[in-house]
Amino acid sequence: MLDQQSRFFRDTWAEINLDHITYNVESMRKYVAEDIEVFAVVKANGYGHGDVEIANAALEAGATYLAVATLDEALALRQKGITAPVLVLGASRSEDAQTAVENGITLTIFQVEWLLEAKRFIDDTKGLSVHVKFDSGMGRLGIQRQEEWQAIETELKAGSHFKLEGIFTHFATADEIKVDYFDMQLERFNQMLSWVDQKPKYIHASNSAAGLRFAQSHFNAVRFGISMYGLTPSLEMESVLPFPLKEAFSLQTKLVHVKKLNKGEKVSYGATYEAEADEWVGTLPIGYADGWIRKLGKQEVLVGGKRTPIVGRICMDQCMIRLTDELPLGTAVTLIGEQGQERISVNEIAQRLETINYEVTCQISSRVPRVYKRAGKVVSVRNMIL
Ligand SMILES: *Cc1c(COP(=O)(O)O)cnc(C)c1O
Repeated sequence: MLDQQSRFFRDTWAEINLDHITYNVESMRKYVAEDIEVFAVVKANGYGHGDVEIANAALEAGATYLAVATLDEALALRQKGITAPVLVLGASRSEDAQTAVENGITLTIFQVEWLLEAKRFIDDTKGLSVHVKFDSGMGRLGIQRQEEWQAIETELKAGSHFKLEGIFTHFATADEIKVDYFDMQLERFNQMLSWVDQKPKYIHASNSAAGLRFAQSHFNAVRFGISMYGLTPSLEMESVLPFPLKEAFSLQTKLVHVKKLNKGEKVSYGATYEAEADEWVGTLPIGYADGWIRKLGKQEVLVGGKRTPIVGRICMDQCMIRLTDELPLGTAVTLIGEQGQERISVNEIAQRLETINYEVTCQISSRVPRVYKRAGKVVSVRNMIL
């Protein structure tokens, strides 16, 4: 018997090609020097692809460390049986330090006060593994001044509560063709590293964009996020990729209703769409609560290998498309992905929404089950609401 989470009861799902994740990670693994580790970034449920499935595929393909944004996300990986090291990239609360220790999770720190607070909660002799964040120009998390480092260093060395495992920074513009700001950040980071007498095991700085472009910023690990999923960090970067990326995400649904509208009949809320002639309209069981948001009202989908327009407003749970013929119920409809010779990429949806590809896969909600495939066959399913 299948457990509930591996079954779903609707005709809309996201399909994740795990072979493409493997290929992207292996390609990155081969591209960086042998002594540089690949950290797989699986925050936000693996950018909407599924945290544990992506984590396992990435680890098998040569990644050695996982990175998430929050302690909850790290604990979720542990709960699902992941034993690999996990780094929380965002801020955690000092009172949760012991939880991190107990679960073998590494936290990011950037305030000496945090360490002083956290000490009160850590009662484990193993100590908390930490990476210190340096702000070289992102203006987000991280220390900027040498005095801050000195205070933190003194505190880290003072007892057995903490183990310094890494130091890192983050680039603001690594995906832009213009390199001035990137160069400035890298120089600043190198200068900051000169404050550190005893270097920890890991020094890391590169996201996908920097990892794919600048060997001088690899240090000894790269944090591979968006491009592990086969997506380019920015459109500008498409022409400078060192190896082709393979998109892993697709979004599928089926026709659940088909009807003929007479000329002048209307479709959806506001009755904004009016049939220009007698025409066939199909209903799709996906809407804005699935992350297929209202702004996609002018988007096309693929039916029978052809582009077909959405008509009328997108509803919470459904939307409608105009068909050229009466098609059978259950006909496959692809919202993102390939059908025959046609393809709708994540980037196409991002451009339609005037946003970046990152946001597109992240916004497909937990109501949409994820189906995992290898060699064209379903290997697992995750329904996050059952
Ligand atoms: C999300 C994130 C990454 C991954 O960035 P990509 O552009 O997706 O490769 C790396 N480092 C930090 C600190 C992040 O927050």
